[in-house]
Amino acid sequence: MGGSRPIRQLPLPIPLGAPDSSIARIPKPDRVWVTRSLKMTSIGWVGFDMDYTLAIYDQGRMDSLSVDTTIERLVKRGYPSYLAKLDYDYRFPIRGLLVDKRYGHTLKMNRFKVVRKVWHGMKQLPKETIRELYHQRRIRPESSRYHWIDTLFSLSEVTAYAAIIEALERRGEHVDFGRLFRDVRESIDEAHRDGTIYKQVLADPARYIYRDPHLAETLHKLRSAGKKLFLLTNSPWSYTDSVMRYLLGAAMQEYPSWRHYFDVVIVAAQKPTWFREGRPLMERDGAVLKDVHGPLERGKIYEGGNLREFERLCELPGSSVLYVGDHIYGDMLRSKKESTWRTAMVIQELDAELEAHERSMHDMARQRQLSETRENLEDELRFYQARFKELAKNDTPDLEAQTELTRTKRSIEGIRGELRSIEGEYTRLRELVDRSFHPYWGSLLKQDNELSIFGLQVETYADVYMRRVTSLRHYSPMQFFRSPHDLMPHEL
Ligand SMILES: [Mg+2]
Repeated sequence: MGGSRPIRQLPLPIPLGAPDSSIARIPKPDRVWVTRSLKMTSIGWVGFDMDYTLAIYDQGRMDSLSVDTTIERLVKRGYPSYLAKLDYDYRFPIRGLLVDKRYGHTLKMNRFKVVRKVWHGMKQLPKETIRELYHQRRIRPESSRYHWIDTLFSLSEVTAYAAIIEALERRGEHVDFGRLFRDVRESIDEAHRDGTIYKQVLADPARYIYRDPHLAETLHKLRSAGKKLFLLTNSPWSYTDSVMRYLLGAAMQEYPSWRHYFDVVIVAAQKPTWFREGRPLMERDGAVLKDVHGPLERGKIYEGGNLREFERLCELPGSSVLYVGDHIYGDMLRSKKESTWRTAMVIQELDAELEAHERSMHDMARQRQLSETRENLEDELRFYQARFKELAKNDTPDLEAQTELTRTKRSIEGIRGELRSIEGEYTRLRELVDRSFHPYWGSLLKQDNELSIFGLQVETYADVYMRRVTSLRHYSPMQFFRSPHDLMPHEL
């Protein structure tokens, strides 16, 4: 073919090679973490708890408010007035601790319910005491001797309890640890019941509640994909209305009020009982409560009720519900045990946990390296010890056998020395890493190389977890959240 032009390679406008995937990644703190795979396509209803889930409270300020209120009431009950002037360290407690009311101790356990860290008042107890007190017999955390600290609301109880023990004992006063704990709890419960705390928060919501600017858009994204949303909270109507108005009021033009985001609103739910039996469902009409007969209606306010009735009235199969909450027992565990709801847990401590993890990366890698070396050295030690035994059997060794015996002995001593120094460095690193996570307890979710009891509960009962509800906005409402591979020790 005469006039054809030669074919030339066209220059490519894009440089070849792998694209930079880091720009496509959702930043770590904003990610949703998966313990059990979850297909959002199979989710028709997404439910939300309110306190500490949609409404993220400023922990320090809430604790300070709770402790002040508690102390005021304790002084009225006859406790010394100098307690009002103490320095309370609000960083002290974390979730997942156990209070031992017999001794006035606060404990952290690993996933096997073995106590690993203990504080009496504000003093840390040594390993030997822990062994003596808690390792001789199995702990029964559910017995009346102990009290679980499993909500962010209850952290302030521990702050007050530990600091008061410390202060009273320093003055040589006798402390009835069981009674003190009861008094602390009753004081704070009273303050919640009679509305003291509610009133203070609502008087200045911006001081206590973080108004996430992305909340409206997150809920809207789910709704746009056809999901139905519901609110299921233990808070009473008036408080719920005020907080939700603060969080979502005038956030998006399409929604004239916060109630328009939700298909069903249930307040004063009394979780965890709500998941088991609960009360009959009522409709709130101003100050009046009415019986509910027909299907649930958008725009109405419901109170109480229970899981079965809710599922029946909404005609929904349990497995199509994703419930988002912050409370292991009330939101995650109960819904997992009593229903087939899928669960998402909001863990606001995740920010600090991820930051510490990042900071300690280098030290933790060194720890793993040391563990590996230790394992190799232990193999070697076993080998030389067996050899030594073998050689020592010879009652009449010749010169060569004697030299080998001496050399073997020296090798054993050398390895033992190395193991000791590894142990020392490992312990130093562990303390460093612990302090980087938390000044008193180390990581919230881990203990040494294992999960903490709290970490285990998260892994068992939360299908996915995240720092904020608004982390969901980074994902498609049809996302397939895939869990990582489970590896057993022999697969590592
Ligand atoms: Mg909550």
